[in-house]
Amino acid sequence: MKLNEKGLLIVISGPSGVGKGTVRKALFERKGHNLDFSVSMTTRKPREGEVDGKDYFFVTKEEFEKEIKKGNLLEYAKFVNNYYGTPKDRVFEKLKAGKEVVLEIEVQGALQVKSKMQEAVFIFIAPPSWKVLEKRLTNRGTETSDIIMERLQKAKNEIMLASSYDYIVINDEVENAVDKIIAIIRAEHARCERALEGYYKLMEE
Ligand code: 5GP
Repeated sequence: MKLNEKGLLIVISGPSGVGKGTVRKALFERKGHNLDFSVSMTTRKPREGEVDGKDYFFVTKEEFEKEIKKGNLLEYAKFVNNYYGTPKDRVFEKLKAGKEVVLEIEVQGALQVKSKMQEAVFIFIAPPSWKVLEKRLTNRGTETSDIIMERLQKAKNEIMLASSYDYIVINDEVENAVDKIIAIIRAEHARCERALEGYYKLMEE
């Protein structure tokens, strides 16, 4: 019998350009865990190499707005003129099946999840410095300078919201950040409010 029957919802968030996508991908490349990535829905156009259904579900604005109206999204946000959101059903099904579900989302969305699911684990990925963040956003090369400026301004406001999270992980080196996230997940499993009920059941067997 597993000690923890119910899956854990792990929210990885932080400002744009902090490298949370890279950290999340590196986390999923690590062996020895059973994490499940929640594929988001977006109205943004696919970037080169991105695969529909794997990186995102790419939809039109009309399709996205229909999903909002139907209440099918756990959270959503408009980010630099595009919608991004988390399909609700898949997340709940996986959690019910005892899986660990990882959301990689921006800050507004993370705060919406927090207001609905306090039991989730909220991890804020932070840049080692403002200069590093600026450099990462500028060097990305996928956006125009207007969009870069907009994302930088947004990042400034978002860093102020780190105190709403449970953990802060500084993304100095990707592999260090992944080590810390894995340590956080392990520790969260051992929290009494999660583990004790399962432990008492084990003792009764
Ligand atoms: P990008 O366009 O670079 O893939 O993503 C832009 C931002 O949207 C990133 O900060 C990313 O983490 C965030 N994002 C991706 N999926 C979701 C989602 O489902 N909900 C929210 N709120 N943000 C998302």
